[in-house]
Amino acid sequence: MRFPMSLYASMTTYLLKKRIYKDAHFPLVLMLEPTHRCNLTCSGCGRIIEYSSTLQHEMTMEECLQSVDEAGSPVVTITGGEPLLYSHIQGLVREVLRRRKHIYFCSNGLLLEDTLSLFSPNPRFTWNIHFDGTEAVHDQIIGRKGGFKKALAGVKAAKEKGFRVSTNTTVYRETDVKDLEQLFTQLAEAGVDGILVAPGFSYEKVERDVFLNRQEITQKFNEIRKWQKRFPLISNPIYMDFLAGNRPLKCTPWGSPTRNIRGWKSPCYLITDTHYPTYRELIAKTDWEHYASGKDPRCAQCMVHCGFEPTVIREMNGKDLLRMVEWNLHA
Ligand code: SF4
Ligand code: SF4
Repeated sequence: MRFPMSLYASMTTYLLKKRIYKDAHFPLVLMLEPTHRCNLTCSGCGRIIEYSSTLQHEMTMEECLQSVDEAGSPVVTITGGEPLLYSHIQGLVREVLRRRKHIYFCSNGLLLEDTLSLFSPNPRFTWNIHFDGTEAVHDQIIGRKGGFKKALAGVKAAKEKGFRVSTNTTVYRETDVKDLEQLFTQLAEAGVDGILVAPGFSYEKVERDVFLNRQEITQKFNEIRKWQKRFPLISNPIYMDFLAGNRPLKCTPWGSPTRNIRGWKSPCYLITDTHYPTYRELIAKTDWEHYASGKDPRCAQCMVHCGFEPTVIREMNGKDLLRMVEWNLHA
């Protein structure tokens, strides 16, 4: 299975409740960034540029847990920066799991092997390790020779200890689809449970022209989407249809709200107009329809998973539901 059964059960119950209460704007995944401190400076990373003045700051554990409770989403993605550098990471993971949330823990993998002993395997806890290409390509993007080997060693060690492990790959303009095919073969051989693949977003603050426009995304994903049965891809098939230009989707910007050191980021994980001190204010004060309409010029080329996959989950009807169940079972 591409996702644990418990995740389906939590998500279905949650969605039913939201439908019963006719809640218009609700999160599926909380993107929690307890710190933006990182041990890398990857090209293409908007975070370390946007938050350069607060890179050494971190949220308190209480702020993190209050954010988890405020959002109430069944899934919490702990990300950053490199969240393994967060001072209270062990306690944070323990407390979020105690709230019966599912955690996707995003990491560049450099510290994974050395910190595994801080955590225990749990069906609700999944490591999500970043790989942007095979060894030479990945090391060049992250600017660290040996980074690929270290992260892959961490993935293998985590699998040996019984953890769920998925990976996350960003597709850039320079990404060679053949290289991705080799990478995914390697990751599948390492026994990963899931491979997330999505196009990068054109951060205004990243000056190099590395990001794809929609036409380029469509070309690359027409190839990538054919691999659904070969590799345990966890970018869902309806979102893949969208990436390949075969299905229109509108963004759900409130589906994956981001909380970090400056507050609740509005409107979305990618673009920042402001930060609000509370989740309630984020929901009440953001002009959601403007961003969902795609009319904001910054949204023009965006097809990122945190904006569009929540739309698939939110709008799923009978036919799509059957397709998603079949896809999840036949990993
Ligand atoms: S590892 Fe992640 S947070 Fe750190 S620089 Fe690279 S992309 Fe940015
Ligand atoms: S389309 Fe992209 S940039 Fe625009 S609101 Fe959605 S996720 Fe954010």
